[in-house]
Amino acid sequence: MKQAVCFSCGEVKPGALARCPLCGKLPESDEDLLLSLALSSRNLGGVSLEVAGRDIKEGRRPRLDEQTLDRLRAQIEEFKKAPIVKR
Ligand SMILES: [Zn+2]
Repeated sequence: MKQAVCFSCGEVKPGALARCPLCGKLPESDEDLLLSLALSSRNLGGVSLEVAGRDIKEGRRPRLDEQTLDRLRAQIEEFKKAPIVKR
């Protein structure tokens, strides 16, 4: 099942916090985590993973509104409190 797009190369990967099968990158910094969560199927809303992935591959970063960013920052804080990474 397609669930997320790599923050670095735009490849579809099984989960927002999973290691990318193509470039091997794992989101570690706050900025990478924020972008990774934004690129997961849970948070993309109306935008498809394919469109988001194509944007990343073409060097465009997805635009996030403040409301979404605040929600994602809260998710990252939760993640740090209980770092359970599903692989
Ligand atoms: Zn990648």
